[in-house]
Amino acid sequence: MRKNNHESVAPFPWATISVLILAAVLLLLIVIIYTSGERKRLISNSVLEIESVAKLKTDQIERWKREKINDSKLIYDNLALVEQIEAFFIKENNNRERTSLIQFLNSLLINYDYKSAILLDAGGRTGLAIPVSDTLIGDNLKKRVREVIEDPQIQLSDIHSAPAAEYAHLDLIVPMMMPLRHDTVLSGMLVFRIDPTEELFPTVASWPTPSTASECLLFRVENDSITYLNEPRDFENGIYIIRNYSGDLEFSAIEALETGQNYVRGIDYRGMEVIISVRPVIGTEWYLAAKKDVSEILFRFKREITLVWVIMFVVLLALTAISYLIIRFTRTRFYREKYQEELNRQALMKHFDFVIKHGNDIILLLDNDLNIVEANDRAIETYGYPRQRFIGMNVTELRTPESVPLLSKQLQEINKQGSSYIETIHKRSDGTTFPIEISVRTVEVEGTQYYQSIGRDITERKNVEKEMSESNKKLNTIINNLRGVVFLCKDDQEWTMKYISDGIYELAGYLPNEFIDNKIRSFNSIIDPDDQIRVRDEIHKTLSTGYLYSIEYRIITSADNIRWVWERGRGYYEGDKLVALEGFISDITDRKRIEEELIKSKDKAEQSDKLKTAFLHNISHEIRTPMNAIIGFTTLLDSPDITDETRKQYIDIIYQSSNQLLSIITDIVDISNIETGLVKISRNEVNLNNLIRNLYEQYRLRAYQQSLKLFYTTHLDNTESNVLTDETKVIQVMSNLINNSLKFTQKGSIEFGYVLRGETIEFFVADTGIGIEQENQDKVFERFYQVESPNSKQFSGTGLGLSISKAYVELLGGSMWLMSKKGEGSLFCFSIPYSTAKSAEKGKGVPKKKKN
Ligand code: ADP
Repeated sequence: MRKNNHESVAPFPWATISVLILAAVLLLLIVIIYTSGERKRLISNSVLEIESVAKLKTDQIERWKREKINDSKLIYDNLALVEQIEAFFIKENNNRERTSLIQFLNSLLINYDYKSAILLDAGGRTGLAIPVSDTLIGDNLKKRVREVIEDPQIQLSDIHSAPAAEYAHLDLIVPMMMPLRHDTVLSGMLVFRIDPTEELFPTVASWPTPSTASECLLFRVENDSITYLNEPRDFENGIYIIRNYSGDLEFSAIEALETGQNYVRGIDYRGMEVIISVRPVIGTEWYLAAKKDVSEILFRFKREITLVWVIMFVVLLALTAISYLIIRFTRTRFYREKYQEELNRQALMKHFDFVIKHGNDIILLLDNDLNIVEANDRAIETYGYPRQRFIGMNVTELRTPESVPLLSKQLQEINKQGSSYIETIHKRSDGTTFPIEISVRTVEVEGTQYYQSIGRDITERKNVEKEMSESNKKLNTIINNLRGVVFLCKDDQEWTMKYISDGIYELAGYLPNEFIDNKIRSFNSIIDPDDQIRVRDEIHKTLSTGYLYSIEYRIITSADNIRWVWERGRGYYEGDKLVALEGFISDITDRKRIEEELIKSKDKAEQSDKLKTAFLHNISHEIRTPMNAIIGFTTLLDSPDITDETRKQYIDIIYQSSNQLLSIITDIVDISNIETGLVKISRNEVNLNNLIRNLYEQYRLRAYQQSLKLFYTTHLDNTESNVLTDETKVIQVMSNLINNSLKFTQKGSIEFGYVLRGETIEFFVADTGIGIEQENQDKVFERFYQVESPNSKQFSGTGLGLSISKAYVELLGGSMWLMSKKGEGSLFCFSIPYSTAKSAEKGKGVPKKKKN
């Protein structure tokens, strides 16, 4: 809405109108400057013209006069004519002369344009006149004639009118002088009347440029007045003295001449304004006045000016019309808007009144001191005071005592910003309280400031908020106590988290906040790089089918451990666009581990199943062989025809087979004891050197029988070789190893013994036998494992010896290992702690190496 619409008077379009007025004034100024310049230019041009015409005309008159005198000089000098005139006046009978003179004079009249010619004698009497009628000599002429008689010089009279002639004229008097011997005498005079209208006046009157009101006038000054000689435009023939005309203009022009100014501007005899230039005609008493009407000078200009003014007027009229239209338009628009505004306002007021009266909000109008000035029905109803009491109450009375102190700060805010939103507690007349939200703004009513407060009881909202916050809290507690992570994240490259529950700390060791909006790290960054692409692809693939997705992947925890997680989630769509994912993540590391172990143990069970099958197959062979021998030879013992030697051989075989059977059964019993945890270790002081030596004695013969060299090594002095350990087990392990060496060595040697390495005794059995491939070196310690498959077996055995040995060594607190190269031999080692009764008390002595 336009601001100025709040004013009651229509705004005047000052800017536009000012521009228009300025334009008009400028135009006016231009026209005025142009016209005055043009006027001046025209006048000064005309002045120049008039001055030059005056000069031209005076020159012409002077020339004309000179010509007349010169012409008369020819007559003056005509001696023959003098003689004829002399003769005419002397002779009695002068007809011949008369005729001749008449002829002569007639020719002069024709040639020189004289109007008439009179011949006077030396006394001034008329002798001849042509035309004959014109013989009269007026006073003027008489006076001149007398002057010529006295001083015979050619004389040209002024223009005058005389009764003798009916027209104004000049008299040219030429004395005719008869030369004598030493002198001349006047014989007569010739008087020629010159009509100025014939030649002089036309010359004077003609204006060299086309003009209707310009004229040149010849005048002379007579006393206080002037006489025009030639005919002014408006008069008739004659010499013109204009009645009641003193010739002021001409006089002032003559005066101006003296001051060097060649023209004046004034009113002429016709009452017209003219510019006049006056010049004296040299040799006469005449003045030549050239003048032009100012009206003529400015005639064309005036027409132009009139046109300019008309245009100017039209333009001004147009500007005025435009201004008027603009003002009218502005006003119309203003009032139209005003009217519309008023309509709106009225509609609004109607609505507002209704809202205020019946509205659901508490509406109060407060004065500057916060006293209630006006209140709607709803307010009265809410607070429960009678209206008369309510109006005039201070707003502080509506507040609870705790919320009153906050008021001054809130008021400051309202005054500063013009409006504010407040949440506070109000109390009703019965003392009950309720939370209220209030929107307050300052309003100005006829120059006074008020506060308009619109409030709403928000008890219900507050309750809902409280309930919601409690249920949110509960939900959060549930979510955060879940063994897992609830999340809401954006579907972007980083899986930017919008919400992630506290469970992430337990899972990954990072705080939930670190992930929100990728503040410190993104969720994608903790997904195992090997799984990142798979996770993204699988999620999108499943979501595109419209189903929930579930996926397992690894994350890297803050402690740099890998944990397996299972995530189940769904897409969150805006229209067709996937914008977010929400779901649940749980830790499945343990499950994964169990799974892996299960797989391993399953493999193992399968393997051991295979081994057991092989064992059973093998054991039946191993047991059957000695059993068959025992049964077979026992049966043969019964035969009566056998010799004692043969019987002894049979008994030997039965004995060996029984031993073999016993050892197999022992092995089986041992392994079952180991598996069931029944094997007990009983440590005694054992002299290792003796133990080794006994073993050597035990196997020396067998080695010899197999053509093998047998060595043994003891590392400690006899005194130092007493060790706390289970002798039986050590002997059993060593026997197993030596037996194997003897079994798997065709040629070469077997060496066994022990060395002390730091805190442990390391036993070894080395042979130059068939050796074991790298890939089988670990497997030989497994139960029932034999490098050779039972079907292609060369060597007897159960595949239990090494596993029993290893188990015993471990029970003794040591470990067992081997080094071997296929075809070159094997080195079996095992360690036991070097603990002696002595070392427990005194510490360990320096062992000495001893070799046999
Ligand atoms: P048995 O000897 O009864 O078969 P063992 O557990 O003692 O069972 O040995 C397992 C397997 O290890 C043997 O079958 C054999 O293939 C291999 N083996 C053990 N000792 C040696 C050795 N000194 N040289 C070569 N192979 C050996």
